[in-house]
Amino acid sequence: MNRKWLYSLFIISALLAAAWFGYTAMPDAEFDAWKERFRHIAATQGVSEATATAALQGLTPDRKVLKLEAHQPEFTKPVWEYLETAVSSKRVADGQALLREQAPLLQRIYQQYGVQPEYLLAVWGVESNFGRNTGNYNIIRSLATLAYAGNEERRTFWQAQLLSALRILEKGDMPLESMQGSWAGALGHTQFIPTTFEEFAVDFDGDGKRNLVDSLPDALASTANYLARSGWQRDKSWGREVRLPVWFDWSRADPDFWLPTNVWVQQGLLTAADGGVLADADPAFVFLPAGYRGPAFLAFNNFSVILKYNNAQNYALAVGHLSDRIRGAAPLLTAWPHDEEPLSLAQKTELQELLTVAGYSTDGVDSKIGPNTRSALRRWQVDSGFPADGYATLEHLNSLRQTVKKNALRSPRPAPLL
Ligand code: CA
Repeated sequence: MNRKWLYSLFIISALLAAAWFGYTAMPDAEFDAWKERFRHIAATQGVSEATATAALQGLTPDRKVLKLEAHQPEFTKPVWEYLETAVSSKRVADGQALLREQAPLLQRIYQQYGVQPEYLLAVWGVESNFGRNTGNYNIIRSLATLAYAGNEERRTFWQAQLLSALRILEKGDMPLESMQGSWAGALGHTQFIPTTFEEFAVDFDGDGKRNLVDSLPDALASTANYLARSGWQRDKSWGREVRLPVWFDWSRADPDFWLPTNVWVQQGLLTAADGGVLADADPAFVFLPAGYRGPAFLAFNNFSVILKYNNAQNYALAVGHLSDRIRGAAPLLTAWPHDEEPLSLAQKTELQELLTVAGYSTDGVDSKIGPNTRSALRRWQVDSGFPADGYATLEHLNSLRQTVKKNALRSPRPAPLL
């Protein structure tokens, strides 16, 4: 290769490197201006000049974080696939080993906060695979990026998290280099976001600092404190797998319909799936995570408390079931409806539109099957002869397509405008 060639190659590489560097790390004048404005706000919130400088100096926006925030998966995993990972046999075995290894710590936390060891292990397991996946994003950078250029509706939230993270640094609870976590700013073994940290974190190893990344005692005790203060009932279970009779009124399987456990049983509405006794009067609702064809559960107060930690029913089910398995309980007894295909975002949108057109308003179309859509779907299911479990399937979507098409054909032509 002659010199000219080498020279060209050098220039091309340099240009490529500059382009890459520009994309990833070019100083961003607007971001710098935003940081200045933010520093003024932080100064009014008890963050010193020194802390703000240490945390923000030289920081560039992280575009990967913006991509992650904007990403909406086309399909949400069906609950059984989610549980295969969240409650894998490896995770159960790891949890059982840790139950023995960490017994003294877990007992001390239990005595102070009343949360049973296997539940703390279950939260730890589901949140970070027992500390293995706590996330390696610089959360100051992530939160600053999101507060600066994230989804407009959420920027106030991200800014509040960033302010909170700086106050944690100011207080000296955590060193800056330990502020590593998920792209969305959750840190440590049990993934606390900064405002939750400020409100609920405790120092349990006695060094005077609350460090949820480097101290397992602090992380697990903070989780117990969060659950206790959210209404955890000492020694009570999250729920129980049950069997329902074929004539069960599916509309009663609803998080808003609670009865004492013994009343559910006395009315012949259900039995424990394992044939065990359900004698106490704890209030419970019937939970059908995959509709009437899948497993059914009685969910108790502590299920609702887990939802306060992370407001997703499948998450609460995973934590509850993993805690049972760590304690030595058997896998679920009822099979999941594996043949049921999950609805895509587009199909969920279509379902909401069709329900609304058919006279069962979902109060808006957002492609998320929330309480309003479930309630509309139940009313349509009752009128159309389907079990009213509020669980959306392709069968429902197809049937709605037919109905709406038929009605459209039948409806009279609109009167001509005069
Ligand atoms: Ca500590």
